[in-house]
Amino acid sequence: MLWLRTKYGEIIENAIPRIVDGRYDGFEVPGSKYTFKYEVCIVLSKEEIEAIQKLRMKEHLEEASGKVQVVKPPKYKIATCNKCGAELKYTEKSLRKEQSHMNEYLYYLTCPCCGNEFCVGCS
Ligand SMILES: [Zn+2]
Repeated sequence: MLWLRTKYGEIIENAIPRIVDGRYDGFEVPGSKYTFKYEVCIVLSKEEIEAIQKLRMKEHLEEASGKVQVVKPPKYKIATCNKCGAELKYTEKSLRKEQSHMNEYLYYLTCPCCGNEFCVGCS
């Protein structure tokens, strides 16, 4: 049995080579009506299969433990200017990083409304 990755990123498990009229014609999965053309598939190595199984096991354990998982991380973060009250949408790139201690950093954002620079995440 082979594992395949299609060019669309789909993982196909338990595929077997399909022979039509004595010629090799891609792959099929027993019990499934779908067949996969040879051109759109990559046969995964033992290492790749193990990596996928490990990831699935990790996800399964996290799910079972009730741990909250991030499906889609936020694209932007929101901060409120402590001078004018403007709500600002920013990304990592918008921040100025300043070292405060050995391995600690403070992050600053400049408000485009009033020019005030304020620390993000400082209380
Ligand atoms: Zn402001």
